[in-house]
Amino acid sequence: MIRAAFPGTFDPITFGHEALVARASGLFDEIIVAVAAGVHKQTIFSLDERLRMTAKSLPQNNVSVESFDGLLADFLRARECRIILRGLRAVSDFEFESQFAHINKTLDGNIETLFLPPSNEYIHLSSTMVREVAMLGGDVAKFVSVHVAKALLEKIAPCR
Ligand code: ADP
Repeated sequence: MIRAAFPGTFDPITFGHEALVARASGLFDEIIVAVAAGVHKQTIFSLDERLRMTAKSLPQNNVSVESFDGLLADFLRARECRIILRGLRAVSDFEFESQFAHINKTLDGNIETLFLPPSNEYIHLSSTMVREVAMLGGDVAKFVSVHVAKALLEKIAPCR
């Protein structure tokens, strides 16, 4: 039984995240998508909103969505999971990702971080870009599911 965790902020979940989880769900018995409570980052969606949207976008039977607060290493231990999955989009991701992998390994020697390359069409897609396009009034239909696009519109409408 091999369980992997895919941690992130998911503010909001994009087609890039969805494609990565779809591929990973065929590689592992179980995937826990771990949505960070976000104390370290300012998010536009609340934790509940991010959890709901993320779960709605991921229909795979072996994928569950949970929130975590505090250290990812502690969450993994509590879930008896030792694999962290991360997407590695570009060279710019590399520095943070290698530090993140290293710190988690140092905190708990059992943890292994595995990187999956993004699907080609989503290699430059990030939640940050999606939020910016939405805020500037652009169409995000090519980047996120319909329900996420709708939530983005509702969220930013009062700000425009
Ligand atoms: P974080 O704030 O931890 O970077 P994100 O929600 O932005 O959280 O990303 C979570 C994970 O999803 C990261 O491993 C990131 O590299 C990966 N990811 C984000 N966008 C894409 C994409 N377009 N294709 C593949 N992986 C992605």
